[in-house]
Amino acid sequence: MEELQRIVTRAWETGRAAAASGRVANYIPELGKADPSSVAVAVANLDGSGASAGDVETRFTLQSVSKVASLACVMATGLHDPFERVGVEPSGDAFHSIVRLEEETGRPRNPLINAGAIAVSELLEGPNPSEKIETLRGFLQVATRGADVDGSFALDEAIYHSERDTGYRNRALASYMKHHDVVADPFVAVDTYFRQCSLLADVRSLARFGLFLASGGVDPDSGLRILSAEATRKILALMTTCGLYDEVGRFALQVGIPAKSGVSGAILAIVPGRCAMACFGPALGPKGNSVAGMAMMELLARELELSIFSAGEAGRQLETSGQSA
Ligand code: GLN
Repeated sequence: MEELQRIVTRAWETGRAAAASGRVANYIPELGKADPSSVAVAVANLDGSGASAGDVETRFTLQSVSKVASLACVMATGLHDPFERVGVEPSGDAFHSIVRLEEETGRPRNPLINAGAIAVSELLEGPNPSEKIETLRGFLQVATRGADVDGSFALDEAIYHSERDTGYRNRALASYMKHHDVVADPFVAVDTYFRQCSLLADVRSLARFGLFLASGGVDPDSGLRILSAEATRKILALMTTCGLYDEVGRFALQVGIPAKSGVSGAILAIVPGRCAMACFGPALGPKGNSVAGMAMMELLARELELSIFSAGEAGRQLETSGQSA
């Protein structure tokens, strides 16, 4: 077996063992139906190679991973500057926190917490939430062109309705932002957000989607520019500082890769210049991140030496020979 496949399979075994310690999110009732023992992982390299293991056919909703997609989509269109309505600082709070909004006159701290993503999703092109979501799905499909995986990113109606029926905290965030003129129409903003969270992917289509973020904004198959290099760099910086809620520090230390998690148990991680990785495991830890996903990312980062904070070979060479070599 090829070396990468061996490591990915080992990651999946580690993830499967870790899954037993987590719990599936059920505050969106329909999410609670997920099989907690389901675990999958995929790595897609920029050179077209890759590997995957586990329940690779299992589809899951993007949930908060969609925040990266909608931010990229809005920035790619270039018609609105999302940073006129959201900040760029980590919140240090849980993903749905309302505390900072109150302290800071209604402007979300960053686009990757719920409030920020609700504000950004209103900027997707389209006259109503369903057309805005078609814009986003179109973007996801363009970014995954050529993928031999399910790149349709269909809407899971049951999950969407379940969140729409129960998502009063997100409605409160949208209303509070309307009070401060951060959003124009809180009903459009929050419904668009509920829909984008309910888009379906599997680990291979999600990893494939992430490749343009690993390549400075270019689709590696077609050479098509999906996003400017500058916007891509900004999104990766935000993923590094804000992508895993109040567990972002631990992730930076243990894994060290720009990433975004969702309560469905998905994690998308990007290694600039090298690869995109997607993990899935619906059993979550106390901070709302997939326990299997965290374990798998940790193993992959260690075994493949992926941390962006590692000097890798350059450091080892200097250690043996210094500058005179
Ligand atoms: N749709 C979910 C919510 O708003 C997304 C949260 C998440 O994935 N962290 O609660």
